[in-house]
Amino acid sequence: MTQFQPGFLFPGIETRVLFGQGTLAKVGEEIGRLGHGRALVLTTPPQAGDGEALAKDLGDIAAGTFTEAAMHTPVEVTERALAAYETAGADCVVSLGGGSTIGLGKAIATRTGCDHVAVSTSYAGSEMTDILGETQGGEKTTRRDPSIRPEVVIYDVDLTLGLPLEMSVKSALNAAAHAVEALYAPDANPVTSLMSLEALEVIRDTLPALAENPRDVEARARMLYGAWLCSTALGYVAMSLHHKLAHVIGGSFDMPHADTHAILLPHTAGFNAGGTDKLAPVADLFGGSVGGGLWDLAKRSGAPLRLADLGLTEADLDRAAEIALKNKYENPRPFDERDIRELLQAAWEGTRPAN
Ligand code: NAD
Repeated sequence: MTQFQPGFLFPGIETRVLFGQGTLAKVGEEIGRLGHGRALVLTTPPQAGDGEALAKDLGDIAAGTFTEAAMHTPVEVTERALAAYETAGADCVVSLGGGSTIGLGKAIATRTGCDHVAVSTSYAGSEMTDILGETQGGEKTTRRDPSIRPEVVIYDVDLTLGLPLEMSVKSALNAAAHAVEALYAPDANPVTSLMSLEALEVIRDTLPALAENPRDVEARARMLYGAWLCSTALGYVAMSLHHKLAHVIGGSFDMPHADTHAILLPHTAGFNAGGTDKLAPVADLFGGSVGGGLWDLAKRSGAPLRLADLGLTEADLDRAAEIALKNKYENPRPFDERDIRELLQAAWEGTRPAN
């Protein structure tokens, strides 16, 4: 099916991308290309060893490491990282990790104006976007700005071989959610749509192989390629119901990011499939049912299926539905509080969507 549109805006893709095994070795060269020579290397505590090793390889180009990146980019962590950036006399940042570490790199870059080389090691898909979600005083706020987008993104397949299987599966479904929403976004263009469909096919075909053998380099490379496609598509379109609900449940109930996306996706996609023909090619990819097919893939790959298992209560669902209705945003299918509550109930129980 062609992705022709009678009218569209293609904004271009600004980010330079290096993809493949061993590309981590190119970080120093990329920093030089950007005209810098003092990089602060960022990681989470569990990936501190990888950050130290990268800093050692970079030699004089490394100004130091900051290894405290945390989920949802807490502002107090960013403030400590900014102090480390100043003290080290850094002139750019390198984030090595998943969405949390890349989020910290974005938070520093948008505050200082510095360049950011992101080395992405999960499939969450923050690296190609101009989106930054930050938390302060228990509240999560999200904004978009061109200064948030990293200048260079490096995808080294070798770095993903150690991503734990459970996290890999959830993270891949998190990526798939970007592709699904990019297809029906009001500002979708043929490039984001082509990328999204290619990504969903790659994820469909690769996830079961990866779940069988997490150290399969070929499957890892394909999944990382899928993640790049999804992240790129998300970076150029507006988000709708799925991301809104994931944001509410993750932000207001402190639920884990990847799990929340993975569980919600079959339900939000199935719901929206009833309101747009933009998901018809996804139905073709997934055996005739968008929500049902995505749910089958999630189940077969060992992904979490029930919001109840994350510790959410039915009373939480009432509140989540209420919060989700507070701000208006575009969605291909109109909905009211009852629709959202029903959708959340199905995701809480983990039932297979019919649509
Ligand atoms: P994460 O970055 O918190 O990573 C989870 C854990 O896995 C961390 O301990 C991390 O160090 C570890 N890890 C990551 N890659 C690894 C690897 N290859 N090997 C071993 N361990 C590894 O989780 P995530 O799901 O990647 O990202 C979630 C965060 O990203 C959330 O804060 C979310 O809001 C944000 N996000 C933002 C955007 C955006 O466009 N702004 C998009 C997607 C996600």
